[in-house]
Amino acid sequence: MQKGLLVLLLFLTTCLNAQDIDVQHYTFRLELSDSGSAIRGNATVEFKALHNLTSVTLDLTGRNGATGMEVTGIYQAERNDKRLSFSNVNDQLIISLADTIKKGATEKLTIAYWGLPDDGLIIAKNKFGERTFFADNWPNRAHHWIPCVDRPDDKASFEFFVTAPSHYSVISNGEKVEEKELGRGRKLTHWKVNIALPTKVMVIGVARFAVKTFDDSPPNLPVSAWVYPQDSTKGFYDYALATEILRFFSGYIAPFPYNKLANVQSTTIFGGMENASCIFYDEHSVTGNRDSEDLLAHEIAHQWFGDMASEKSFAHLWLSEGFATYFTDLYFEKKYGQEAVVARLKKERGEAVEFARHSASPVVDSTANLMSLLNANSYQKGAWVLHMLRNEVGDSLFQQIIRSYYQQYKGGNADTRDFEAVAEKVSGKDLSSFFAQWLYRPGIPQLAVTKYNVRGALVVQVTQKQKALYTFPIEILVEGENGKKQRYRELVATAKSSFQYRPGFAVKKVTIDPDCKLLYAAY
Ligand SMILES: [Zn+2]
Repeated sequence: MQKGLLVLLLFLTTCLNAQDIDVQHYTFRLELSDSGSAIRGNATVEFKALHNLTSVTLDLTGRNGATGMEVTGIYQAERNDKRLSFSNVNDQLIISLADTIKKGATEKLTIAYWGLPDDGLIIAKNKFGERTFFADNWPNRAHHWIPCVDRPDDKASFEFFVTAPSHYSVISNGEKVEEKELGRGRKLTHWKVNIALPTKVMVIGVARFAVKTFDDSPPNLPVSAWVYPQDSTKGFYDYALATEILRFFSGYIAPFPYNKLANVQSTTIFGGMENASCIFYDEHSVTGNRDSEDLLAHEIAHQWFGDMASEKSFAHLWLSEGFATYFTDLYFEKKYGQEAVVARLKKERGEAVEFARHSASPVVDSTANLMSLLNANSYQKGAWVLHMLRNEVGDSLFQQIIRSYYQQYKGGNADTRDFEAVAEKVSGKDLSSFFAQWLYRPGIPQLAVTKYNVRGALVVQVTQKQKALYTFPIEILVEGENGKKQRYRELVATAKSSFQYRPGFAVKKVTIDPDCKLLYAAY
């Protein structure tokens, strides 16, 4: 798709999705039981009016046959809890206000509801056949169990009051404020977060857990494992890697933004879900072999990128998934060295190339099919864009770009243009064509490389086989007998580029991109 048309499309979607309210804080009171999967909720939504408003629209899945939520009452706090009229169709809860709320005014609405969640809150047996309740909101499935503005660019602080049978433990985001027995086998657990976060990461996990806080947790920042009791030994061992991963990212990016990090074994449909300060991992990730180290690194990296600095819309998902994928590579580079990271990058390059063969979508992709964005463009290609940016500007400028971007957008939202602007400002370079070719165009350079001799000189010819040309630096390593080597750095910007070398030794081997710095497909 042409860049101009894409920018117009993104602009149009932004206008279409213009918001009426800016949610400030959510208070969710939930009652869960073992006698059926119906939940009872009472949600207070505190918001600021962005225009003069006579009605407010929230996202909530209404009753649909046996499932969905039934709203029993809505009350407006500033009007003595006046009961309001509303309609709930097509996952929208349209609430008629008692009277006009002025632009800039704040108000609180309380929604009483109950029902069987058809998605979002997974009430199911875990791999040991035990009953569990796990929220799983990505991309916009939170509104299947809580009334909210279910989009990444309306972030808010929130708290959960969960009443559940006493034999369960309840984990959620932020800090545990209170846990108390209510009698008759029921317990109330209250968790609270004072940081604005997107609905995709607002969760509860309710199950029988074995919990361990790791001794090597940083001061005042308990890092813990919440695993099924049957898996406690293996789970405590596997998830104990979280402390060193957290330390690495805290050193590379910025201090960890939350006051705890719980690593939770769960029934999430994903490999892992980066819920802020309480990450949910696929229950099968616990093996006792620590073979989910990269999964932990990926989800912990999201605590900064995705949760704190969030994408403005899912079209810019690479700002979350590409970052988490590349920061996992950086962690492996630090811990296991160059060979390990090159192996990862090669694998990711292969996955990005394979995906590009069958896709006409660019990384910045405004498709409405959000689940389809969980693809190699968002993850692997996104990671490669960061890797190439790092090679373009150098290690220390790259780290400065990352740190500045995080400082500027933590607690908020950014799109690709915002990241580009930071990268250009920090590096002092015009990176517009870099970002345009790698993020706003589908495809990957298809390179055919030929080598031949002309009058004793080695000629290396790089041919771009795809239609739209790319401009990129490329390294060429020429090797001879007895370890003789010569490395050349060239710029390719045309369909056919030829480079002539007289290395001064008999050439035995020519390698392009020896250190895995370029995203390309060998043709
Ligand atoms: Zn991710």
